[in-house]
Amino acid sequence: MNKQPVYLLDLNSEELKAWVLSLGEKAYRAAQLEQWIYKKSAGSFEEMSDLPQSFRNKLQQAALLFTMTPLEDKKSADGQTRKILFKLEDGQTLESTLMFYENTNSHRERRTVCISTQVGCPVGCYFCATGQQGFVRNLRQGEILEQVLYFVRLIKNTVTTEDRELARKAITNVVLMGMGEPLANYENVRRAVETLNSKHGLELGARQITLSTSGLVPQLRQLAEENLHLELAISLHAATDELRNRLMPINRKYPLAELIPACVNYLEKTGRRPTFEYALFEGVNDSPQNAREVAELLKGINCAVNIIIGNPTASLEFKSSSLAQAQIFQKHLFAGSIFNTIRISKGTDIEAGCGQLKSRWLKEKDEPAK
Ligand code: SF4
Repeated sequence: MNKQPVYLLDLNSEELKAWVLSLGEKAYRAAQLEQWIYKKSAGSFEEMSDLPQSFRNKLQQAALLFTMTPLEDKKSADGQTRKILFKLEDGQTLESTLMFYENTNSHRERRTVCISTQVGCPVGCYFCATGQQGFVRNLRQGEILEQVLYFVRLIKNTVTTEDRELARKAITNVVLMGMGEPLANYENVRRAVETLNSKHGLELGARQITLSTSGLVPQLRQLAEENLHLELAISLHAATDELRNRLMPINRKYPLAELIPACVNYLEKTGRRPTFEYALFEGVNDSPQNAREVAELLKGINCAVNIIIGNPTASLEFKSSSLAQAQIFQKHLFAGSIFNTIRISKGTDIEAGCGQLKSRWLKEKDEPAK
């Protein structure tokens, strides 16, 4: 009976070594394989020129390097955002986005990949296109990693020989802010992040990896105990339970009185200052009174607030606020001594808000959203 091929990105370093040994190969071949996958960004086994042909033949038979196929590739008009819709092995689809940012302090460019962790999302925030698609399944560890590796290869393939910095570190940051709730797929996310961070993997610093959560309190407390020390972003969007319940059903399960202490605990355990994401919706949560409530809720906590505008969703009920409104909101946060920035969502012309490209694609294909 034919065995299913092994998806190599599902294996961590130890598991890869054990699997290579099981093929009758020497352990150092596993290290060579890792080099090709994570450091030299190989696109196929054939490219792995220092592996003997006999081993490459075995790999062709017994292993899969990649499982995802790009279906759509969209670039924003300003060239700063690129969004890919991928088809997975089982026919499901997901989205990932590459964003270029100029860091005005260091004059260095940041190349950030926003990745998905689930197909659909079980949390069902009322303003979110993904939330409206429902939940299909968790992504495998390999599928989480493959999104990042795809963009690494994409960038490296465009690099000229003089571009040493780009060739050395194609991707500078990863944010787990795409489709899905990362903490609802805890184990696969933890393992994928370990490989992103590991010296055997992509060697991204923990400070370069941000996990964004809607506020799953038990998993957030578990994450604080891990030796990962990721940057943390929390989708807040409202500072009272009454308003947050209207935006995010998760708040009924884990209200603010449980969420905020869990964020403070994360800060104490990891030393990472949490960022609270606050998307402004016109007439819903964008008044000066709402801003004062945020300032009151976060008073005395070492944190930052990211005010987000410009990410229109399909919903009529939740229209993004204007920049002018955001600036008024910001003024009230500053008055309450809350450090904050306004972020204008990137790539709105290519539907870079989470789940938007997939929603449109499903509509065009006349399929029901799964
Ligand atoms: S905003 Fe995030 S957590 Fe909420 S439904 Fe959308 S993907 Fe899920």
